[in-house]
Amino acid sequence: MVQSALRRLTVLGATGSIGQSTLDVVARHPDRFEIFALSAQRQDDKLLAQCLQFLPRYAVMGDPAAASRLESALRAAGSRTEVLCGEHALEQVSAAGEVDMVMAAIVGAAGLRPTLAAARAGKKVLLANKEALVLSGALFMEAVARNGATLLPIDSEHNAIFQALPADYTRRPSDAGVRRVLLTASGGPFRVAPLDSLAAVTPEQACAHPNWVMGRKISVDSATMMNKGLEVIEAHWLFGAPAQMIEVVVHPQSVIHSMVEYADGSVIAQLGNPDMRTPIAHAMAWPERIEAGVKPLDLFAIARLEFERPDLERFPCLRLAFEALQAGGAAPAVLNAANEEAVAAFLARRIGFLDIPAVIGETLERSGALAVDSVEAVFAADAAAREWARDQIRLRQAT
Ligand code: NDP
Ligand code: MG
Repeated sequence: MVQSALRRLTVLGATGSIGQSTLDVVARHPDRFEIFALSAQRQDDKLLAQCLQFLPRYAVMGDPAAASRLESALRAAGSRTEVLCGEHALEQVSAAGEVDMVMAAIVGAAGLRPTLAAARAGKKVLLANKEALVLSGALFMEAVARNGATLLPIDSEHNAIFQALPADYTRRPSDAGVRRVLLTASGGPFRVAPLDSLAAVTPEQACAHPNWVMGRKISVDSATMMNKGLEVIEAHWLFGAPAQMIEVVVHPQSVIHSMVEYADGSVIAQLGNPDMRTPIAHAMAWPERIEAGVKPLDLFAIARLEFERPDLERFPCLRLAFEALQAGGAAPAVLNAANEEAVAAFLARRIGFLDIPAVIGETLERSGALAVDSVEAVFAADAAAREWARDQIRLRQAT
């Protein structure tokens, strides 16, 4: 086999769940991947350990106090890694000429600008930050196309769909004979919990996902199924599929990561153990295949695969996401901002679990039809939606 050239990688959100899995894959292939930059928001101790192991040229911290702690610790350890701070630095290390690939694994809307910077610089963008597409799908896809960037989905469902589509797929489902995209969902920890028990759900219960280990925000999104709603919007932009062509299928075992149904009746699925190192390694090595440290799938141990229709009464966030996609314009950005605020308030025990969809629904109603034709307009809609969502959160706290 021909040895591939060493690829230089920036990992945005290196200290998070996806960031750590990415570095696990990198560590298995020192002959293929080299770290150019790592970033974190406030966990300087974790980033320090990663810097000492992977020797990046740059380490970017969001929080200035954490940046200076990191700087002192690196100097004390004799490291040559340079510490940068702030949002602009994230854009710099994403767009730098030496970089081949950017793993976009910052959580939330904060990931949009650096991810967009990577797309504009024509990089290979490994996209975990689904919020970037939800906020500004049209702008983002346009930046990818105009600058010759390569966009590879990391989200397990979208990575599965990517694998099940033809290699020359061009975002026109009918040209490729695609009839439907079947997006699988585990249903989260409350799939069968009594409906009247949901009001009292705690952050700990919501974060205890049955199949996946993830960051806290996406874990709550999985419990409300907003994660699947955001993924429907993500699939729409990635694969050019209209909302009616995307079907959510609850599949509690999380073994099939998604499927594509073709005009001839074929349904192509991608299966694997629920371990994010599979989609990460797939995207990092694409179009080659590399070892990812993932256990082989034991179909005999799994024995049974089940499928259910999603219950929209139990999971109103999924319905709200479909509505936002249909409404278009700024509605998905408003949905996302309201969700980020509501989830943060829930994790801080300021509102209850059932307040999450209520806050988002009220915010969407208040936002009306805002347009988004620039990144500035996206962030204006995002900021307005956060204000409205905070009003709703205050009201709910008071009652
Ligand atoms: P985590 O919460 O585990 O990690 C988030 C990372 O982003 C951390 O490195 C964190 O730094 C950094 N960060 C947080 N806030 C900011 C900010 N305001 N500015 C810059 N950096 C910030 O998240 P996950 O790894 O779970 O998720 C990352 C993204 O990947 C999300 O968009 C999620 O939807 C997506 N995703 C995750 C999956 C998973 O299995 N975890 C699956 C599919 C998609 P610090 O540690 O210092 O706080
Ligand atoms: Mg997913």
